[in-house]
Amino acid sequence: MDADVIVIGAGLAGLQCARHLTRAGLTVRVLEASDDIGGRVRTDLVDGFRCDRGFQLLNPAYPAVKRDVDVRALHLQSFGRGVAVRDAAGLTVLADPTRHPSRAVATLRSPYVRPAQLKAAAAWAAAALGPVKRLLAAPDTTFAASLDAAGLEGPLRTLLERFITGVVLEDEGTTSATFVRLLVRAFALGTPGVPAQGMSALPAQLAAGLSRPVELRRRATSVSPIGGGWGVQADDGVLLTAPAVVVAADPVSAARLTGSPAPAMKGCVTWWFAVDEPPSDLDFLHLDATRTGPVVNAAVMSNAAPSYAPAGRHLVQATTLLRGEGPSEAEVRAHAGAILGADPASWEVVTVHRVERALPVQAPPVTVRQPVHLGDGLYVTGDHRDTASIQGALVSGRRAARAVVRRLRPAG
Ligand SMILES: Cc1cc2nc3c(=O)[nH]c(=O)nc-3n(C[C@H](O)[C@H](O)[C@H](O)COP(=O)(O)OP(=O)(O)OC[C@H]3O[C@@H](n4cnc5c(N)ncnc54)[C@H](O)[C@@H]3O)c2cc1C
Repeated sequence: MDADVIVIGAGLAGLQCARHLTRAGLTVRVLEASDDIGGRVRTDLVDGFRCDRGFQLLNPAYPAVKRDVDVRALHLQSFGRGVAVRDAAGLTVLADPTRHPSRAVATLRSPYVRPAQLKAAAAWAAAALGPVKRLLAAPDTTFAASLDAAGLEGPLRTLLERFITGVVLEDEGTTSATFVRLLVRAFALGTPGVPAQGMSALPAQLAAGLSRPVELRRRATSVSPIGGGWGVQADDGVLLTAPAVVVAADPVSAARLTGSPAPAMKGCVTWWFAVDEPPSDLDFLHLDATRTGPVVNAAVMSNAAPSYAPAGRHLVQATTLLRGEGPSEAEVRAHAGAILGADPASWEVVTVHRVERALPVQAPPVTVRQPVHLGDGLYVTGDHRDTASIQGALVSGRRAARAVVRRLRPAG
């Protein structure tokens, strides 16, 4: 046999799994189809700008991040705790008064903070902030139905919907309310940001825990039982064998390799613009409550994360949902300019990331711990086995590693 375990895929789940297996003393080979590690968490360095492959943030309050990631070593650059909302009246900043006391009065006077709405929002959020076990045990429904049930309407509902759209990448409210509450819980407990070197610093840190390099550009084409173990056929003709195989490929590829049904996926497009003058000095995520264009959120990245732009320049991100071809550059540019309150005519496109398969659909009822052992030493891991998030990928990778160790080192 070529190793104790072969891990297929070097995204967060595969790397997390491989490093826990390595720590347990097992020999591991990690095969990765693409030209680098990270999967959906990668960063392109373009003319000195750090552009993550799709705008995303690391939340240090995720339990798996707290347990398994050295966040201090990532030099996280945090966003402001709140949002800037564009609506018919202009731009309103709603900020956590404990972190941004100078914004407390404006926040409390805004139309988004009205007693009846706050009461309904508090009722909705109570389940998110209570014990996780109770949340997971309660009946699940769609996000939209959960807002209806709490009686949340008006501007605050619109705002919450706009914010969540950018996180779950759908705007019909069909995502599991339990999953959304788990996300809101993490936002309440932590302040998300991006590592100084870009989001790719996260997988790089995980990979540092491996005893041999990931085998890049080696795509697994099939997995089949062979001589009491498993054979992994790679696209370069190599056949590797091991007593255990962990399929940590993306949800669609994993389904193909294991013969399981593939989950539906949602996509997004992130436009990265270089600007000479920042449209504002705000380090908050910007939302459009009027929904008058395709951009679900925008931000001056370099206000929150100065390392994302070279000296003297600034970086703006604008993200849209992916539907069909997606909106044109002109539509995105105009809407992002309107949200940020700047003329976008001089903005230069640094790069555009069109991510077809960004997140697996998480419809209710959500099952946050799906089995990782398919039988006889074949395992599957990834965000699609837990929750569609960094937290889900990390926790899933660790669960798979534990299950493999139990099988291969029963006395350990
Ligand atoms: C644009 C975007 C924004 C996001 N925003 C956030 C956010 O703000 N917060 C958050 O918590 N989560 C966010 N996520 C979700 C999070 O990034 C993912 O849930 C997580 O990275 C999934 O990791 P994974 O290891 O399960 O899968 P993947 O990252 O998909 O990794 C799978 C790996 O397997 C490889 N592979 C596939 N097939 C094969 C094969 N046959 N052989 C070998 N290798 C193979 C792939 O190349 C890939 O490297 C976002 C995702 C995207 C795309």
